[in-house]
Amino acid sequence: MQALRTVQLGEADLVAAGKAMLELMRELYPLCRSITGAGVRDTLTAVSRVAPLAITEVPTGTEVFDWVVPQEWTISDAYLEHESGQRFAEFQASNLHVVGYSVPTDLRMPLEQLSDRIHTLPQHPDWIPFRTSYYQEDWGFCMSACERLAMPSGEYRAVIRSRLAAGSLTLGEFVHRGRSEDEVLVFAHTCHPSLCNDNLSGIVVAAHLASFLRRLDTWFTYRFVFAPATIGSISWMALNEARLSRVRHGLVLAMLGDAGPLHYHRSRTGAASIDRAAAVVLKASYPDAASIDFSPWGFDERQFNSPGIRLPVGRLNRALTGEYPQEHTSADSLELMSEAALAESWRACLRIFEVLEGDRRYLNLSPKGEPQLGRRGLYRATGGYYDGVPSRQMGLLWILNQSDGETSLLDIAERSGIEFGLLAQCARDLEVAGLLAALDDRAA
Ligand code: ZN
Repeated sequence: MQALRTVQLGEADLVAAGKAMLELMRELYPLCRSITGAGVRDTLTAVSRVAPLAITEVPTGTEVFDWVVPQEWTISDAYLEHESGQRFAEFQASNLHVVGYSVPTDLRMPLEQLSDRIHTLPQHPDWIPFRTSYYQEDWGFCMSACERLAMPSGEYRAVIRSRLAAGSLTLGEFVHRGRSEDEVLVFAHTCHPSLCNDNLSGIVVAAHLASFLRRLDTWFTYRFVFAPATIGSISWMALNEARLSRVRHGLVLAMLGDAGPLHYHRSRTGAASIDRAAAVVLKASYPDAASIDFSPWGFDERQFNSPGIRLPVGRLNRALTGEYPQEHTSADSLELMSEAALAESWRACLRIFEVLEGDRRYLNLSPKGEPQLGRRGLYRATGGYYDGVPSRQMGLLWILNQSDGETSLLDIAERSGIEFGLLAQCARDLEVAGLLAALDDRAA
């Protein structure tokens, strides 16, 4: 099997990946996901065709740290019906029309009274907002402000055919076994209904990373977890607490399909290997990208980074939460998604993994002065891949100078500014020439 860190991706690979991810997203888009229920199960079934998931059902009432798994929510239909028979806010037209976790309802009331139960976004009159009430029994509807304005006065029947009953919360996991038991955790939240960037994009990128890694030889074991936000990551940690120490690096994936620049959110310490790996990748390959400090108001990285868990987990996304107007509205739709952005997000994750895989310490075997590279063919292009790339020569010199047995390739990438993949290639060439020895057993 080919090693992940030697894979070269071409333009055709990226185009194919972007297409496949958007196709999966189109299939998942109509499903009514929530923190529990059939929409999540159907989503995980579809993801399983890309990368077969192990499913865990966590029963209602299970205590998970400070939380309790709630009742399962099932919904088949909902609408507001005017006395004339005209219907509004129909669930069949958009699952965003119902406040998530709404209790079953069948009530008649005048429009004035019903208005308190209707959420709109006056600043974006064509968009339907996304609202939930998971932990407090409630019901309500969400509508575009335009549709709300079109509702005639009079009596309405508010119907929500839902059910809240003992059931379970569904987690999906895919594990790619590497040569080490040390793990890289990849997490995507599955609780948002018909919303694309947040977070079908995270789901499809994670699914296609899993499917890609399946064919490759890796040092780390890669564990992909698909679960609802907050209660899902907390449930997964509570169920797997005994083996959490195997997680060496982690990445939460969300909002990766819009055309904006990449943003990496650092782990709680800001100095974890995953933070450093992401920083060198963004700096070398994505000039408009930025790293951002940890905040406890993020996605599930804040659960993994809580003080009793302390896993070094960062988050990769494009749009920033709270800063893109389509977030949590019907405008976070397929039109906002770009195949190219999804593909590039996928490749950025792979590049980060390549750094984690390839980071190791070397020993210069000819450390007294500079070894004579020309005599060994290392100053001439062999195969042409470094023709006209002066940073290759600099890479060779940096590695030879720094490889005292203490300094790792990631240290050298940070200090030299040379792209990690090129440095790793230089190190392989120096090993072949007998000038360098790796100080660990990761060699593929
Ligand atoms: Zn969200």
